[in-house]
Amino acid sequence: MKPSLITPTVPFDVDGVHHGFLRLPHSRDDSAWGNVMIPISVIRHGKGPVALLTGANHGDEYEGPIALHELAVTLEPEQINGIVIIVPAFNYPAFRAGSRTSPIDKGNMNRLFPGKPDGTVSEKIADYFQRTLIPMADVVLDFHSGGKTLDFIPFACAHALDDKPQESACMAAMQSFNAPYSMKLLEIDNVGMYDTAVEAQGKVFVSTELGGGGTATARSVGIARKGVRNLLKHAGILSGELELSATVQLDMPDGDCYVFAQHDGLLEPTVDLGEPVAAGEVIARVWSIQRNGTPPLAYHAKRSGILAARHFPGLVHTGDCVAVIAVVVDDLFDNV
Ligand code: ZN
Repeated sequence: MKPSLITPTVPFDVDGVHHGFLRLPHSRDDSAWGNVMIPISVIRHGKGPVALLTGANHGDEYEGPIALHELAVTLEPEQINGIVIIVPAFNYPAFRAGSRTSPIDKGNMNRLFPGKPDGTVSEKIADYFQRTLIPMADVVLDFHSGGKTLDFIPFACAHALDDKPQESACMAAMQSFNAPYSMKLLEIDNVGMYDTAVEAQGKVFVSTELGGGGTATARSVGIARKGVRNLLKHAGILSGELELSATVQLDMPDGDCYVFAQHDGLLEPTVDLGEPVAAGEVIARVWSIQRNGTPPLAYHAKRSGILAARHFPGLVHTGDCVAVIAVVVDDLFDNV
């Protein structure tokens, strides 16, 4: 396979704090011999474990970038044992545009792994992670939230995996992140995901959904800030005690957790995030935006649980994810 065109401007093998870029040549109308410059920090002390931390895999999700910019300016090499690689904005062109996908090539960074060294800008970024950064890492954290179109209760998540020792290690790492909710996540569309690429390389992987609506809150940023430091402590990279509080354990047993829109219209939530719902209960209504005098269409929960995610914008379109129901459990960490 061809070598990557991405060149890091920082070393991975020198102790200290190094702030720089992943430089990817991108010739275009406004810059003939230009580059995409993705900010990266590498903080290294000794030969301990390696953490790879990313935000803005989707460009309109902000808790990760905020927490990671703060970590990059506050983490001292003397506090750590190992290497912390920080990329606050993974899909940097998307982050700059405030959009989920890249304005250059419409690349959704979480759907195009393993990428291509000779592909689009987004595919080249994915390929660099696939063949250079992920192999270096022992533990990988990828921050998400709902972006402009979804809103979530704040949770850290790990996936059910065929490799049970790896699944236990991922669950333990998720537990250490200690978000208010901890979710064993079922993906509806895991082909090409960064998560899948990292897990396939046998790494410990944790992701999050910390809020949404295309912004961050003081609370959601606080969860991200505490979680990333807890995870570094859990991995043996950062010294100190974990900062722990109660977490609600959640599972998504099957596709009945998802409710998708079959109509266009005006969305009326009838349940708010985190509230309990019973199977069959109305969780949202969709009103006509074409005419008056039409009763709303009711959307029902297919199972009992709590409302873990909802469509964020006021108008909804056919095919949109209206809601996600998660089931409260108490055995998520039994094998950790
Ligand atoms: Zn995302």
